Amino acid sequence: MNRIVKHSPIDGSLIGECSISPESEIYDKVGRANDAWKVWERHSMSERKKFFLNLRKVLYKERHEIAELITREQGKPILESYLAEILPSFDTLSYLIEKGEKLLRPQRTHHFTPILSGKQGWYAFRPYGVFACIAPWNYPFAIPFIQLSVLLFAGNTCVFKPSPVTPFTGEKIVELFRKAEFPEGTLEIVHGGAHEGETLLKDERIRGVVFTGSVNTGKRVMEISSQTLKKVILELGGNDPALVLDDAHLERTVRGVTWAAFMNAGQTCASIERVYVEKKIFNDFVHALKEEIEKIRVGDPFQSFTDMGPLAVDFQFKKVVQHVEDAREKGATILTGGHPLEGLYYPPTLITHVNEDMLVLREETFGPVVCVDSFETDEEALQKANSTAYGLTASVWSRNRERVKKIVSELDAGVVTVNNHVYSFAEPESAWGGFKYSGIGRTHGRYGLLECVQVQYIDYEWSTKPELWYFPYTEKLQSLISMLMEFFVAPNMFIRTSILFRFLPHLSFLNKHLPLQRVLPAFFRKLL
Ligand code: NAD
Repeated sequence: MNRIVKHSPIDGSLIGECSISPESEIYDKVGRANDAWKVWERHSMSERKKFFLNLRKVLYKERHEIAELITREQGKPILESYLAEILPSFDTLSYLIEKGEKLLRPQRTHHFTPILSGKQGWYAFRPYGVFACIAPWNYPFAIPFIQLSVLLFAGNTCVFKPSPVTPFTGEKIVELFRKAEFPEGTLEIVHGGAHEGETLLKDERIRGVVFTGSVNTGKRVMEISSQTLKKVILELGGNDPALVLDDAHLERTVRGVTWAAFMNAGQTCASIERVYVEKKIFNDFVHALKEEIEKIRVGDPFQSFTDMGPLAVDFQFKKVVQHVEDAREKGATILTGGHPLEGLYYPPTLITHVNEDMLVLREETFGPVVCVDSFETDEEALQKANSTAYGLTASVWSRNRERVKKIVSELDAGVVTVNNHVYSFAEPESAWGGFKYSGIGRTHGRYGLLECVQVQYIDYEWSTKPELWYFPYTEKLQSLISMLMEFFVAPNMFIRTSILFRFLPHLSFLNKHLPLQRVLPAFFRKLL
């Protein structure tokens, strides 16, 4: 099969068809991106910024059309297409336009070693070249749009492979960059699945990859990328816990947990999948949570104002059914939901009496299912929260600041939110990425931007004096180096001063090699 035929998960209607990219086309597109990057890198920051200002205008102008397309292709409510896909993308562009230049500007650094203090050190931030951006289907717009914007802003060019589940949202992204008049070759798109992804990754001209997807695919991406030593950034799965302490504000916590577990029908890498509630409030919490979950309106997002649409794709639907059935068979209690509706619709499902033999607890379900268990001590809460191989996000819900701070410092997760969950993806300054099997590297914010560049250290020397360490090696130089080390390990200022005096007979020798007007003050600063 060399075509992707895309139907809407909402009602099965045909959205369109597109060709899977043959290897020759992938090769040519990487070539175009490779030709483009040398020119793109040489654009000044202010020149690059102009393209991003254009892009923000185009994104704003087309926001309604984009929201509708995302919803048709992926199934989330239109409000979520605006809130969780377009708005964070828009904010990221504003962030890059306002802050990006300063973050990537070369930075002066001062030498720590006194004898090198006559030189000037600088950090420059240089792009890698061509990056592959391989994206999932759950946030088919925001994830790649944000990653591509950051990569391009940093001076890389990109070949983008959207998920075969959401190819048309992928096409739309590339169309927006074209309309913003980004130069030819800066952003190329290829379509397909595992084979096309691997073809891209095997290409030596691709120097880095930002991959978002499942843990198993992430491992394969890393394995292939190692053959050509690419920079690898992996944003992988999660099975995220929420810890609810006995003093949490019950109503707000119940509403917050419900939203974070079921937005996007639970198909969010950072969805709450496991809730651990302090025993004293367990029954009240579960009762209130069940009531809140039962208020969620599930249905066709184009027919009425719903809170949850269908699952995006049949294989995901089957996985949810399998996890819930596994829990049922192993003795869990399904308090609400748990039986498929029509088509790809699945009801919000609440499960209690779970244990770690069950798939719902051990693995990522990635659907509208939340499990609740209890704990008695903070140690037990942490042990349960940290018990899976994942470590993407976690949350603590409480009003006790001291207790919360202590728990936060022991949670194994790349993002921890207090009295909230998931939303920090939408904040352009917050770093995004996981601990353990949830990923490597960060996207978003200053740390995300810095992942997309190679740090280049530049050391300037303008003196004509030959360095101390040039040949020929002499006994005098060896004893001076030894004195230098003595100076640094000396236990106090008096001993350090006495060592400095021992340098005095060698001043004229040192002066032939070092700019003493800079080196001596640097030594004096180290005296204290
Ligand atoms: P997936 O791993 O099946 O696919 C992701 C992308 O990789 C797709 O474009 C796919 O075509 C491509 N791909 C598949 N096999 C490949 C291979 N061998 N080589 C190269 N590319 C290959 O994941 P998915 O089902 O699209 O997305 C769901 C997963 O993504 C979940 O586990 C979810 O938690 C995770 N996710 C993580 C984040 C995050 O920020 N950490 C965000 C969104 C989704």
